[in-house]
Amino acid sequence: MPFATTPLAQAFAFIPMYVSALVICDLITAVLLFGQFSVLQTPALLVLASGYLFTASATLVYLLIFPGLFSPTGLFGSGPQTSSAMYMFWHSGFPLAVIGYTLLKDKTTKPRKLPLRILASPRIAIASAAVVVLSVVVGFGIFATWGQAWIPIFLIGHRTTSTGRMFLFGVWLLSLAGLVGVWKKRPHTVLDIWLQVVMCVWLFDIALAALLNSGRYDLGWYVGRIYGLLAASFLLVVLLVEDLKQYKRLFQLSVKLSAANTVLANLARHDSLTGLANRRFFDEYLAEQIAIANRFHRPLALILCDIDHFKSFNDHYGHQEGDACLKRIARVLQSCSRRPADMVARYGGEEFAFILPDTDLRAAAQVAEEVRAEVSRLEISHAYSSAGSCVSISSGVSELVSSMKASQLISAADDFLYKAKGLGRNQVVSAWANI
Ligand code: GH3
Ligand code: MG
Ligand code: MG
Repeated sequence: MPFATTPLAQAFAFIPMYVSALVICDLITAVLLFGQFSVLQTPALLVLASGYLFTASATLVYLLIFPGLFSPTGLFGSGPQTSSAMYMFWHSGFPLAVIGYTLLKDKTTKPRKLPLRILASPRIAIASAAVVVLSVVVGFGIFATWGQAWIPIFLIGHRTTSTGRMFLFGVWLLSLAGLVGVWKKRPHTVLDIWLQVVMCVWLFDIALAALLNSGRYDLGWYVGRIYGLLAASFLLVVLLVEDLKQYKRLFQLSVKLSAANTVLANLARHDSLTGLANRRFFDEYLAEQIAIANRFHRPLALILCDIDHFKSFNDHYGHQEGDACLKRIARVLQSCSRRPADMVARYGGEEFAFILPDTDLRAAAQVAEEVRAEVSRLEISHAYSSAGSCVSISSGVSELVSSMKASQLISAADDFLYKAKGLGRNQVVSAWANI
């Protein structure tokens, strides 16, 4: 502050550099805020985003009419007061947008209640806001160039007049009102906290670059503008950091979600006791494999196995022993399914099924026999079975014949299983499943 009036060299490149950076920062911030508005649809965000679009466009017009950049007096026939008027317009528009944001903060979009039904569609709302903002800026630009006669004298040469200072003080007070407004309206969101920082920096900007300095190209003028640039970049950085955090959260959630989906898909397709494919998965897979076998004229076999006298096993050894027995048998069945395309499923309570793609009846009967022998080799005592002293299984094997449906293939295997039971259990029965 004490050195604000120190005169410095007139750096012509400063304004274009400063304005370009400012316009880009404000435009990106406006796009991010409009993006947030299209998701949350709160009128407050629309107003704030429009405020940033306003500063971007007002700054751009300021660049065009600034004397000595594109023409000695500025473009569009602007006069000595045009750029000052534009500066005041630009610096009062943004605090007004912040005040509007604060007033609308608690309101959510309810198209039926709002007088602006336009907010029902975010795209139309954003387009309308952009049209209004650009029209206001262009309108003021036209006024500041063509209506110079009505503009008070703010600058004489590069020095600010007392009228200029009075107007600038009013603009500064507007920024103060914006800051107090955001500060008073609680609770504060992250956006609110950073808006307060932005408003503080705006106050420093106007104070140094317009009130405490003596005019253009002194220390206060340069430093104030650098404050302005900081104010523009603060919220942008915060929004980008918040966006990155959201992406990170989204990524972590999608990883968790796909892991949970894998677990769920696994649960939905497998039996909880034995870990084998359940009936639903069996039905899906069988239909799929029948379609493939028919399409490529390949064989397909089905084995249905059933534990012999399992009811009496349960009755005498208890349900828990029964469960343990089911698990051991399931492990043996799984070990007998060797090809990647083979499937073992728990078809029912103590019934299991093998789907054997690319396998004919003879080969399937061999597998069924091997399974029967492996179960016998477990030697799980069963003193109440008519088939022997240990737990045994009976199996029926069927092979797909052209134009056969899944239900026909299953009932063919079931018929042979029934025969195996009738023949004394602990055996495999198979034949051509012609139905
Ligand atoms: P068969 O030789 O004719 O097949 O006689 P079975 O006793 O094995 O046949 P049945 O259909 O009469 O009885 C099947 C039994 O399987 C009845 C039920 O107690 C038992 N069971 C079914 N699911 C489970 C299970 O998850 N755990 C246990 N422990 N037992 C089960
Ligand atoms: Mg049974
Ligand atoms: Mg049984």
